[in-house]
Amino acid sequence: MSDIFSTRLAHSGDGQEEKVLREYKSVPEVQPVYMTSVFAFDDIESVDDIYEGKADGYIYSRIKHPNSDAVAKVLADIEGAEDGAVFSSGMAAIVTSIISVVKAGDHIISAPVLYGGVRDYLENEIKRFGVEVTFTDFSDPENIRKAVRPNTKLVYTETISNPLIEVPDIEAAAKIAHENGALFFIDNTFASPIVANPIRFGADVVLYSATKYLGGHSDLVGGAAVGKKDILALIKKKLILYGATLGPAESWLLARSLRTLDLRVTKQSENALKVAKYLETDPAVSKVYYAGLESSPYHKLADKFFNNGLYGGMLSVDIKGGVKEVENVVKKLGFIKNVPSLAGTSTSVSYPAKTSHRAYSREELDKAGITLGLLRFSIGIESADDIIAAIKEALKDIK
Ligand SMILES: *Cc1c(COP(=O)(O)O)cnc(C)c1O
Repeated sequence: MSDIFSTRLAHSGDGQEEKVLREYKSVPEVQPVYMTSVFAFDDIESVDDIYEGKADGYIYSRIKHPNSDAVAKVLADIEGAEDGAVFSSGMAAIVTSIISVVKAGDHIISAPVLYGGVRDYLENEIKRFGVEVTFTDFSDPENIRKAVRPNTKLVYTETISNPLIEVPDIEAAAKIAHENGALFFIDNTFASPIVANPIRFGADVVLYSATKYLGGHSDLVGGAAVGKKDILALIKKKLILYGATLGPAESWLLARSLRTLDLRVTKQSENALKVAKYLETDPAVSKVYYAGLESSPYHKLADKFFNNGLYGGMLSVDIKGGVKEVENVVKKLGFIKNVPSLAGTSTSVSYPAKTSHRAYSREELDKAGITLGLLRFSIGIESADDIIAAIKEALKDIK
């Protein structure tokens, strides 16, 4: 008896049901989660045809699956990119993409202020594979030109730097890279595709931590790369080899989140501009870092490269005082929680000197222009008035 149970339980209602569903007149309104590690074939020829590229289809979910394909397509679409891919994290997307286009003996030029993990990778890790990296200040594009060597293969930067909200001349960086036979990759995480589309200004590949604005609800870890088809083909080969694929559940969640990307980032950017303008008037604040402000040295570049008068949801401020004052402010911020990440629907605050930049010595912090009074805000989708009121209340005892 139990034998009958075991066989029926193993096969009844299994993936073969999909064939029945395909004959139905209705389809799911949204794509379901394909929670399967592998796909079944009627014969050996079909597997062969897919491996050979003669037929479309899925084989094994590390290679790709319907959910990763669908969300990569949305991302490529919104950027006007030829192709896209999604990864298990932002680090996976960035590291896999870089390693796909360089080999031992090659040279990379990078901006010095980068996401900590990427800086560590370029400064320490990639050396082990015989790749040299020069860090140079991108605020003057001539520095990039001066750093070019005959073996330079890649120029790398971020659209909006953390935490000082600097914006590089994307077009100039891409131009210098291309004139010298190198590629130009850019991490567009802080801007999101709603604020900036670096492909329009010459980027070959645009990279994301999808954990941030793309996911946007602080509930998934993922990454993405979009760009030129031939380069994405190289990247996708390494993605499969290194097993950096984004799983079906996260891919689905990311696709769901992307439906509201424009609504979220537009509101976050509008709120951030209002908060930044308020902060300029608060007596507790000595400096506001936000490219949307006329006072920002990056305002003109942002206007050239950013969409629809949006400057993103990230801003930083120098509070008068140091660690002690900052600690007090963070405690009194009410619904604004201290979160060492960013880009969720809720406004959050972080203290770069103790989180993202904690590896920096006091000297390095000074050199980078990161003060002990610097707080970084990730502005959410709440009412701007409420965000301003919460910040104003927390700052009121500092003069
Ligand atoms: C978070 C982040 C990354 C790394 O992404 P993970 O999803 O945490 O791996 C890379 N670049 C920037 C700008 C980030 O903010």
